[in-house]
Amino acid sequence: MSQRFIVVGGGMIGLATALGLRQQGHRVVLLERGAQPQYTETTELRVSAIAHSSRQLLEQLGVWQRLPSTRLGPYQAMEVWDHDSFGRIHFAAAEVNQPDLGAIVENKVIEAELWQAADEAGVELHANTEVRQHENAAQQVTVKTATEQFTADYLIAADGVQSPLRQAEGLPLTFWDYQQQGCVAVIKCSKPHGGCARQVFLPSGPVAWLPLGDPHHVSLVWSADTEVAAELKALDDAEFTKRLQAASDGALGQLELASKRAYFPLRMQYARRWLKGRMLLLGDAAHSIHPLAGQGANLGFGDVQALLALTTNAFSHADLRNWERERKVAAVQMITAMESFKRGFGHANPLLKLVRGIGLKIANDVAPLKRTLIKSALG
Ligand SMILES: Cc1cc2nc3c(=O)[nH]c(=O)nc-3n(C[C@H](O)[C@H](O)[C@H](O)COP(=O)(O)OP(=O)(O)OC[C@H]3O[C@@H](n4cnc5c(N)ncnc54)[C@H](O)[C@@H]3O)c2cc1C
Repeated sequence: MSQRFIVVGGGMIGLATALGLRQQGHRVVLLERGAQPQYTETTELRVSAIAHSSRQLLEQLGVWQRLPSTRLGPYQAMEVWDHDSFGRIHFAAAEVNQPDLGAIVENKVIEAELWQAADEAGVELHANTEVRQHENAAQQVTVKTATEQFTADYLIAADGVQSPLRQAEGLPLTFWDYQQQGCVAVIKCSKPHGGCARQVFLPSGPVAWLPLGDPHHVSLVWSADTEVAAELKALDDAEFTKRLQAASDGALGQLELASKRAYFPLRMQYARRWLKGRMLLLGDAAHSIHPLAGQGANLGFGDVQALLALTTNAFSHADLRNWERERKVAAVQMITAMESFKRGFGHANPLLKLVRGIGLKIANDVAPLKRTLIKSALG
């Protein structure tokens, strides 16, 4: 039976939800406080490593096929090493008989194509429209903007990590601040990246170089403890590049900044309830994790996929409760894995360094263990 949905938030997760629901025959209104997403020739700063499971969802939605091949950075290998020990692990797609391990894509490119597809499918899209108030009543939901009012059967809050809707409903969070900032930028490298996603663990946090469509461009995600991040911010471009060069162990040759730098606070959090009355939380509104494994958006796409599996048929409140339970388990598992990884690497203790060096060596040398690790990274 066709239902009416209001989706708040035109990021990747809100747009994918809106399009999927519309394709199932539901009536959908999407409200986004920012402008309609668009991209130019210039590479955008925010990128995501899109896992196979997310790619499948985007293919089903007919959006993956619309992404320009020049903006896709499929990666066939991953190399993770420890700056301070002999530990190093190399994953290759061929080891699990796959053509790639995933693809790096700019968030804006995915958002712009999702928006177009949603428009063509008949989602009622409103850009530059901020939700100011809402009512989550027994029979229906209502949201108010500065000039309009919308009603529907369900309200999807995909309004990002600060989620004004989650806050207005007073849904409690479990969180901890990583006391780290993520610095992102586009980097030009003299050696081709060769379709390899690289990540080094420094005592102050991981630094990742993610391959973009251009063989000589990578996207940098440098997670650093607050004091180190403040130091990095204060450096001019030449000094910053020198620090980055030293961290890279020469893996990509000479590095050069090809964009400005942007910084994001890193915080782990998840809402203790994702469903209240007729409102559901999805994506970063429900959970946010450390970018070290590039899984935040993939977790959100998992929420969308599981919800669409329900809404394709008539569903009850109990079905939504099951969805909430299942997705919360997935998020908490991911958060726990990220946390132990981060804690294991974030230590300068010599014994721990030895243990993690040995751990990485074993994981690299034992084929079945390595295949299991690759498969879990594929999603
Ligand atoms: C440094 C960094 C690197 C990352 N790298 C990766 C990666 O490699 N792989 C990966 O999977 N994930 C990655 N992530 C996580 C990923 O970026 C997020 O999980 C994803 O972008 C969340 O999408 P979303 O649609 O849930 O939220 P958002 O993209 O934040 O969208 C929320 C939208 O809601 C709108 N909004 C908010 N309030 C209102 C309102 N009241 N009315 C109307 N609109 C409103 C906002 O304008 C915004 O457009 C990374 C994150 C960081 C910080």
